[in-house]
Amino acid sequence: MQDASESFARPKVARRRRANAEWTHRFPDHHLEEAQCFRCDRRGETRLTVAPFQLVDCPDCGQSFVSPRLNEEGRAGLYGDSAYFDDGVYGSKFAHTLQRTWIDARLDWIESNHHNGDAGSMLEIGCAYGLFLEGAAERGYSVHGLEFSETAATAASRRLGTPIATGEIDDLVGDNVSDVVAAWDVIEHVSDPRAFLDKAYELIAPGGMLALSCPNAGSLAARVLGRRWWNLKLDRHIWQFTADDLQRLLTEAGYENITLHANPMRRVNFGRIDSLFAAAQRPLN
Ligand SMILES: [Zn+2]
Repeated sequence: MQDASESFARPKVARRRRANAEWTHRFPDHHLEEAQCFRCDRRGETRLTVAPFQLVDCPDCGQSFVSPRLNEEGRAGLYGDSAYFDDGVYGSKFAHTLQRTWIDARLDWIESNHHNGDAGSMLEIGCAYGLFLEGAAERGYSVHGLEFSETAATAASRRLGTPIATGEIDDLVGDNVSDVVAAWDVIEHVSDPRAFLDKAYELIAPGGMLALSCPNAGSLAARVLGRRWWNLKLDRHIWQFTADDLQRLLTEAGYENITLHANPMRRVNFGRIDSLFAAAQRPLN
């Protein structure tokens, strides 16, 4: 049996160990690559290190990104693991209820701000287990999805009763052009966010809408907690956006009527105090 002082001391040690270990597994060198700012092709200046990764800032435009970061092979290993979803927002009943609530809120927002008449067609990039598309289908959208993880894509196909494409946005062909393209918490993961938005633009019908979200690197939580911010996740969140970053990026990619909601009290951010919601239009011509 432990004496009182030992049992009192133990949790403290365990907490300290977890904080210092940073990762529960190792990232081999051959899974790492250097990255440059997508806008300026510049190497960044180090802001913080969570080995083996660094969060850096572009010296020209200020965009924050991760370098070194996981390369394609390293990221494939990360997202191929079903624990990626099960440990996250899909894990518990409570998390599921939260998901349902913001799915409804985001669909409400899209419905009341998209002026193309009928529900029309909805493409979701990174559709995970298909919960959002299920909600969209219930409201009359014809839905298609793309998912990087084969495990999740299979689950989503079963849920929706429709095939879900696997891969990245570049793998989609022209017949997926949709009235609404949604990408929830995807843009912070892709290797080049500008190329991602350019491709999304091609997949939106003229006058149609792009709706996306990402962790808010300008949120109070991010600014106060720094390296302890729970959404820092340098293995997967390889670009970090503030509302200003996202506004600039969408404008540069040719989108119009851009709306950004950073306020955690907004229903579209329901349950998340560090989320950015953005919507924008592909111009009619
Ligand atoms: Zn830059």
